[in-house]
Amino acid sequence: MESRYIDLLAYSVFFRTDQPTTCPKCGNRTEILLDLSHTLNETQLHECLSVNCKKIFVEECY
Ligand SMILES: [Zn+2]
Repeated sequence: MESRYIDLLAYSVFFRTDQPTTCPKCGNRTEILLDLSHTLNETQLHECLSVNCKKIFVEECY
C-alpha cells in the first residue's frame, strides 16, 4: 500500500516541468527531439542521452 503511494508521487513528478527532464526508465538526462510545448499538443518528444538506453518518450507540459 505504501510503495504504491510512492509510485504515484514519482509519476506526478515526472510530469512537472520545473526541473530538467530525466529518463523514466534509467533516470539519465534527456535531449529534446521535438518541442511542441507551445502548440495545442503541449508535449515534448525526448530521447534518453544514455547510449545503453536511448529511450524515446513524450512528456506533457502544463
Ligand atoms: Zn534512459
